[in-house]
Amino acid sequence: MIPMVDLKTQYASLKEEIDTEVLNAVANAQYILGPNVQYFEKEAADYLGAKYAVGCASGTDALHLALVAAGIKAGDEVITSAFTFIATAEAICYVGAKPVFVDIDPKTFNIDPTLIEAAITPKTKAIIPVHIFGQPTNMPAIMKIANKHKLKVIEDCAQSFGAKINKTTTGSFAEAGCHSFFPSKNLGCYGDGGLVTTNSDEIHTQLIALRNHGSFERYHHHVIGFNSRLDELQATILRIKLKHIDTFNAGRYRVAQNYSTKLHESIQTPFEDNIGNHVYHQYTVLTDNRDAIQAALSAKEIASAVYYPIPLHKQDVFKEDYRDIQLPVTESVCAQCLSFPVYPEMPENTQQKIIDTINSVF
Ligand SMILES: *Cc1c(COP(=O)(O)O)cnc(C)c1O
Repeated sequence: MIPMVDLKTQYASLKEEIDTEVLNAVANAQYILGPNVQYFEKEAADYLGAKYAVGCASGTDALHLALVAAGIKAGDEVITSAFTFIATAEAICYVGAKPVFVDIDPKTFNIDPTLIEAAITPKTKAIIPVHIFGQPTNMPAIMKIANKHKLKVIEDCAQSFGAKINKTTTGSFAEAGCHSFFPSKNLGCYGDGGLVTTNSDEIHTQLIALRNHGSFERYHHHVIGFNSRLDELQATILRIKLKHIDTFNAGRYRVAQNYSTKLHESIQTPFEDNIGNHVYHQYTVLTDNRDAIQAALSAKEIASAVYYPIPLHKQDVFKEDYRDIQLPVTESVCAQCLSFPVYPEMPENTQQKIIDTINSVF
């Protein structure tokens, strides 16, 4: 079976170092907010070019904590995309705010900045751009709108670790950047993990308390916080993997380039604008032949996946509240999108087998 992502091969390539360091951390017995979490936060902040990085329990929590720290609350509206994983909208709902879905750009699949201003109301307090599949959203355009309307911007970087626009890494443009270390993400740990980056002293101070029961000092509690800490063992693994993230992302890019040059001309391969560099968390195409391609791949034991089959405004949990809104581009992308396996370690002959199988449908 050719999987969407091959975590076993990646582990094998780092096994010696990971095994040693995980066992050291176990023996060291500082399991909560231990030294590896502190080192990782420093190393991740340096890598991402952010003033601060605060570990937390997941990417979902990173979004939630960032929204609380940015002061988003019940009754507020937050503009985002409906072409994303549910967590983006869940986090907005956790603080009692309302997700306002804006349609996407048909080429990048990211929120279309030209449609944002029409969705702004007096209740709008923030925008959450999602760098979907690893393609950076046009942040200069987003920031211009946000500055004009005094909106906070919280970037969902769960799929874009290491992606940059010019020299700025996604997550460093505004109030906060929210990262996920779910195992299959570009930088993944061996369980759940997340991180918020920020350049704001104030938001950093809040995050430190929010992730740890609202406390700066043990048994002194200033606000209602959460139990949402990055695990020491996960931080140990992340420190090792962070050293290889550029190689991992370059490997994904190489596979994507190979697909894009060789796939049948009727398939709309991922668009690369000249705004930022794509880190290919997913390699996602548009095609009218989705079922036939999936059947051909599955017959050869090759995985494929539809990210995302149902846009958020059509999900059971939201569809009543959003029955009057239409997002034509989002809906048509959901009907045509298909993702193929992409991971840094994919051998050339595996890539060729996938390409041949896909092209055999035409
Ligand atoms: C994975 C993901 C999340 C949530 O991250 P978790 O670590 O799984 O909680 C949020 N947003 C997007 C776009 C994601 O892909």
